[in-house]
Amino acid sequence: MKSIFEKIISREIEADIVYEDGLTIAFKDINPVAPKHFLVIPKKKIKNIQVVTSNDMHLFTHIFSVIQKLSVQEQMVEEGYRVVTNIGEYGGQTVEHLHFHIIGGRPLRWPPG
Ligand code: AMP
Repeated sequence: MKSIFEKIISREIEADIVYEDGLTIAFKDINPVAPKHFLVIPKKKIKNIQVVTSNDMHLFTHIFSVIQKLSVQEQMVEEGYRVVTNIGEYGGQTVEHLHFHIIGGRPLRWPPG
């Protein structure tokens, strides 16, 4: 069965897309936890970072370059921002498609809940 994020990639459901290229797509989180909250995901179906293999390393390099570009595009660099990826139940992962939260626009507390 397709996950929500696969349906966003295939345009079966709408999202507020802020960046896209051949390998990745980035869009606004539907339930933002801060004034700026984006999700960067690979188009390739990968559950989470736990199952990433050495064959996917090029994709990881690419995702981090997309995060850099997006943070510049969305004017988050000067104030700073946080990158989060959740894994499994205790990690708080609710969508089983690898995604990186890019969160900013306000000071963020640490540690998280
Ligand atoms: P996680 O809990 O780390 O798996 O994060 C999943 C994120 O996806 C949550 O922050 C949700 O708010 C977000 N989300 C779920 N459905 C959508 C959607 N249709 N469009 C944008 N973001 C979504």
